[in-house]
Amino acid sequence: MQYRTNKQGEPISILGYGCMRFSKDKLGKTELDKTEREISAAIENGVNYFDTAYIYPGSEEALGEVLHRLQIRDKVQIATKLPHYLSKSIATMDKLFYEQLKRLKTDRVDYYLMHMLNDIGTWEKWRTLGVEDWISDKMAKGEIGHIGFSFHGHSDMFKKIVDSYDWDFCQIQYNYIDEVSQAGRIGLQHAASKGIPVIIMEPLRGGRLADPASPLARKMFEQNPRGWSPAEWGLRWLWDQPEVTCVLSGMNSIEMVEENCRAASESSANMLTDEDRLFIQAVKEAINGTSKVSCTGCGYCMPCPAGIDIPNTFRAYNVMFTESKRAGRMDYLRCTAFSRSTKSVSQCIDCGRCESRCPQQIKIREELKKASRELETIGYKVIKKGVDILKLW
Ligand code: SF4
Ligand code: SF4
Repeated sequence: MQYRTNKQGEPISILGYGCMRFSKDKLGKTELDKTEREISAAIENGVNYFDTAYIYPGSEEALGEVLHRLQIRDKVQIATKLPHYLSKSIATMDKLFYEQLKRLKTDRVDYYLMHMLNDIGTWEKWRTLGVEDWISDKMAKGEIGHIGFSFHGHSDMFKKIVDSYDWDFCQIQYNYIDEVSQAGRIGLQHAASKGIPVIIMEPLRGGRLADPASPLARKMFEQNPRGWSPAEWGLRWLWDQPEVTCVLSGMNSIEMVEENCRAASESSANMLTDEDRLFIQAVKEAINGTSKVSCTGCGYCMPCPAGIDIPNTFRAYNVMFTESKRAGRMDYLRCTAFSRSTKSVSQCIDCGRCESRCPQQIKIREELKKASRELETIGYKVIKKGVDILKLW
């Protein structure tokens, strides 16, 4: 295993264990014995960072139970996330935090994240409610080791949040398909330039880059002389970047644990050749070949006066055609419903300001209308309404 470091110079394994995808039985309960074997194998191979969240069903309890069984709590770092959107006050936040400690069978969280902190308005709101004092108190008591946030918005917003507080670390969705969307490479480099460790989630877009839908991309991987699997290419592309601290992988088989640990032990920053990087670029083009909108995610059309996140909307719309309708709709939900400042596409006021700035000369308004028809389903509207009600605090 290779290690990079946090702000204090303490080691974090470059491969982290994403605990959202533990195997479940037919009743939806985590298969604890199997999960224990997988976690045990990962720890033996040097993985020391485990990422979970309050809202991952059964995940915190399972991780707590497995670490308790293995009697190995002190050898690992637990990262979990606070669902601030379920809290209306610091008192509720406190209640959720202690519930998490109980689930995890521990007296501390090593890395604690504000979950899906996608806009600065939400953070400012929490500041006025006293969240900074709450964090300081928890850190002084040793109940929180490091404080960070996870993010699914656009790079401009990401920079604002990074700059707004002395964060110990952050977590972003990043992979070779999302290089210019969400926080993107720009966001990664911005955080790293401030010495903030960056944890990567969705390195394989929920496993979809491990088995690309594009037949051309699959053929390209098969024919590449490196002999790496598509998953390994995705992970190595990330570890090649020195700004990346740790890459989370939702492992749920021993084979996956072993393959990822082997790749992690062989990887280092700047290890890919120019030829490798060109290969990934070609794969990306093959995967994006079935896109609907030729948006490059440059962000020149932003900000939109109506609060629409144009590049992330087009990315979600494209994902519907390059991966699956469900994946695109989930992306759109994350980027709009869970952000205080980002509005749905249907709220476009038709001002046309974005189109004059687009270097790709995309008919943005026309394309957004098409995207809206596909993305804003009845299910989306129901979930968004529910989230909006929760935001009324
Ligand atoms: S036309 Fe719509 S999407 Fe474009 S800037 Fe105006 S409100 Fe925003
Ligand atoms: S300016 Fe055009 S290409 Fe750039 S993000 Fe906006 S829509 Fe996409």
